Amino acid sequence: MKITGRTKILGIFGYPVSHTLSPLMHNTALEANGLDMVYLPFEVSPDSIQAAAAGIKAINLSGVNITIPLKEMVMPFLDEVTDEARLIGAVNTVVNCSGKLIGYNTDGCGYTASLKRELGFNAKEKNLVILGAGGAARAIIAALAKEGAKNIVVANRTLQKAVSLAYEFKRYFPNLDISASNMDKGDLIKHLPKANLIVNTTSLGMDGRGEPEIPFEVVSKRHAIISDIVYKPLQTPFLKKAEWYKIKTHNGLGMLVEQGAVSFKLWTGTDMPKEIIYKTLKGYLGKG
Ligand code: NAP
Repeated sequence: MKITGRTKILGIFGYPVSHTLSPLMHNTALEANGLDMVYLPFEVSPDSIQAAAAGIKAINLSGVNITIPLKEMVMPFLDEVTDEARLIGAVNTVVNCSGKLIGYNTDGCGYTASLKRELGFNAKEKNLVILGAGGAARAIIAALAKEGAKNIVVANRTLQKAVSLAYEFKRYFPNLDISASNMDKGDLIKHLPKANLIVNTTSLGMDGRGEPEIPFEVVSKRHAIISDIVYKPLQTPFLKKAEWYKIKTHNGLGMLVEQGAVSFKLWTGTDMPKEIIYKTLKGYLGKG
């Protein structure tokens, strides 16, 4: 990669930021597309987010990704935030549009794009169960609701968070049947048999540790997909169990790549060379 006085700079703000695969993904794509741009990691502590956001303008970064734990905190320091990002309550992509900082959230549309690409799945008129009620869950629920989902049950360890989420989203999507549940098997068993898609959006399964305990035996082998947005490892304990029950599975790599592709297009105006990126990341994650 040749850096010159004209090279444009993209980056990611996170705390910590060392674990991120985004520099590998975006630098591979920038190089493949022959763009004079580079993507760098910036460790930004929550105390410094205001200064870092101002820094995007000060040093003329073309754009940044925002990751844990800064996705919500950055919002007051942007000039504009899309309606979708405001509903989700988090921004994962900032575009520096001639000195105006615009915040987007590409996680949800990245997730639905991945389901479409890999399994041809569209949420229209479908019954969905979302495990977790954090930032990623909000992004995914917004995208699935926008696609026309019929029924969404949000199950979370902290029930109150799922209740608030369901209430808020019902106001935004009046035609959506959305409700909250806790994560107990006894409660989930009521919702799982008719579910077309069951998604783990909790952090359970990261680094192969833990899994949501659901009664797999009542999940439809013919009509359901079990999806996990954790991508390290690619085959989480949750997905392993679903495969044992012969249920169709979907891992978190697609969401990572597709949300990145939407951000990449916003910054560069060009399409991410996805085949190259899938291959690179699969190789990195040990399934090349
Ligand atoms: P978050 O806002 O912190 O939410 C975490 C969620 O996990 C909450 O619902 C939390 O429940 C639940 N949780 C945490 N520990 C739990 C446990 N021991 N038992 C049951 N539930 C537990 O995080 P996030 O941003 O939504 O991210 C969630 C996961 O998605 C992370 O693993 C992240 O790496 C992954 N992710 C992947 C992609 C991708 O591109 N594939 C994109 C974004 C995120 P409580 O409310 O009860 O605390």
